[in-house]
Amino acid sequence: MFNDHTLKHTDINCPHCGHPVHLDLDCSNGDQDYIEDCANCCNPIHLNLHLNEISRTLELSVSSDNEQIY
Ligand SMILES: [Zn+2]
Repeated sequence: MFNDHTLKHTDINCPHCGHPVHLDLDCSNGDQDYIEDCANCCNPIHLNLHLNEISRTLELSVSSDNEQIY
């Protein structure tokens, strides 16, 4: 799903309202954990980005602040 470049573009669905959210991911900094506000419902989306060094792939976990989705 993810490979090759350091800058990734991906689309997720907001865990609050299901609205598609476009993300630009920068995996050059390795693992990241941050909050992105949904453009539709303005609720915070918790993003956990893990760079797998071995397979050179990005693993993205998306959750709302009050509900963990793995
Ligand atoms: Zn939303």
